[in-house]
Amino acid sequence: MYCLFPQPPLKHITIIGCGVVGAAIAYELSLCPEMRVTGLDRSAPGQGATAAALGVAMAVISHKVKGRNWQLRQRSLHRYQTLFSELEALTGRKIQRNTQGILSLCFEAKELPRWRSLQQIRHGQGYPLELWEPEQVRDRCPHLNTDGVAAGIFSPQDFQVNPTELTQALVAGAAANGVEFHFDQPVVGFETEGSNGEDAVCTAVHTATQTIAADAIVLSAGLGTMPLTQSLAQPTAVGPVLGQALRLHLNSPLGKPNFQPVVNGYDIHLVPLGGGDYWVGATVEFPPETSLEEALAMQPEAERLDEVMAGAIAYCPALAAGTVTDRWFGLRPRPQGQAAPVIQSLAGYSNIWLATGHYRNGVLLAPATALAVRDRLL
Ligand SMILES: Cc1cc2nc3c(=O)[nH]c(=O)nc-3n(C[C@H](O)[C@H](O)[C@H](O)COP(=O)(O)OP(=O)(O)OC[C@H]3O[C@@H](n4cnc5c(N)ncnc54)[C@H](O)[C@@H]3O)c2cc1C
Repeated sequence: MYCLFPQPPLKHITIIGCGVVGAAIAYELSLCPEMRVTGLDRSAPGQGATAAALGVAMAVISHKVKGRNWQLRQRSLHRYQTLFSELEALTGRKIQRNTQGILSLCFEAKELPRWRSLQQIRHGQGYPLELWEPEQVRDRCPHLNTDGVAAGIFSPQDFQVNPTELTQALVAGAAANGVEFHFDQPVVGFETEGSNGEDAVCTAVHTATQTIAADAIVLSAGLGTMPLTQSLAQPTAVGPVLGQALRLHLNSPLGKPNFQPVVNGYDIHLVPLGGGDYWVGATVEFPPETSLEEALAMQPEAERLDEVMAGAIAYCPALAAGTVTDRWFGLRPRPQGQAAPVIQSLAGYSNIWLATGHYRNGVLLAPATALAVRDRLL
């Protein structure tokens, strides 16, 4: 057998940053036969903000109903419907997730008209969203304190996923499809050509020990975006917003064994993990007005996490008897001067794409980001 027509050469895409966003891009591009993909990270996959995330994916229950932000959420939700089983079949890995829905507690009666309007819009869009009376909340989730609760808003299609397991499965899936990864390889510079009035082209990426040629570059480096874009003379500001969370164990699991949704009250998530274990979080701590270096060196304030825990106990009193088994924090990458996330070409370059600044929703938006990057590269 020989081919009558010459095949076009494979397009070599280099992805910098392998958190949940870069890993999702690597996997999605690995499904494109016209691309050869290399993934780079300065550490192991999923060690940045992704390692701290709770993985709560609030799409239907969010108040975004139109425009880019809703379209990304909807596209992610749709892609997630097949992504988990696809990755599990391909890699043989199990991705821990909670698909029993998300219940949000509304404490302000004046917010109910807004929720009813959202419910109507979602029904029109084909997504169920239920509004429960406080008695219904008590009946279905007897572990919740409904004093002061005006309603429960239940979204059966929203879910939660373990971000680390998801990232590792995306990397394993991409690798199985031929993506080459290099970990512990910080990118330290770029080779570029031309710029006389025209957009410049990046031809290669330098790590400390390697030079990797590329036809296109994707920057999915989260908080590493600013220094990388500075070295390309197109600084794109992405600053940190600190988040703390904790894990706790209860001797007797909460609520009804066959109904364990993620609960959100006062913007605090309670994530059932099974076996009496729960994640609770997260704080949202903005850095003082300082340089990026100082902001990146921010340390968590223990009292802020204590406040989050107190908020969770207020709506779920049984948590007070739990034993805290872990506490951690991470830095969310938040774009400055533009909306999150940043998915666009880097100004001044014809072949560099930014997929960064996902702030509080990187796990939710990773699949839609990957599809958007794929569409642009194709
Ligand atoms: C406490 C907490 C709770 C959260 N909960 C949720 C949640 O419930 N749901 C949700 O959707 N989101 C949540 N988030 C937000 C989420 O974590 C982020 O939006 C998401 O992880 C961003 O992913 P990323 O891949 O862009 O960034 P990162 O995970 O930070 O990955 C960036 C990668 O780039 C690499 N890198 C940087 N510079 C370089 C370089 N020069 N060379 C090579 N590699 C480089 C880093 O090593 C890193 O691996 C939470 C965040 C925190 C902190």
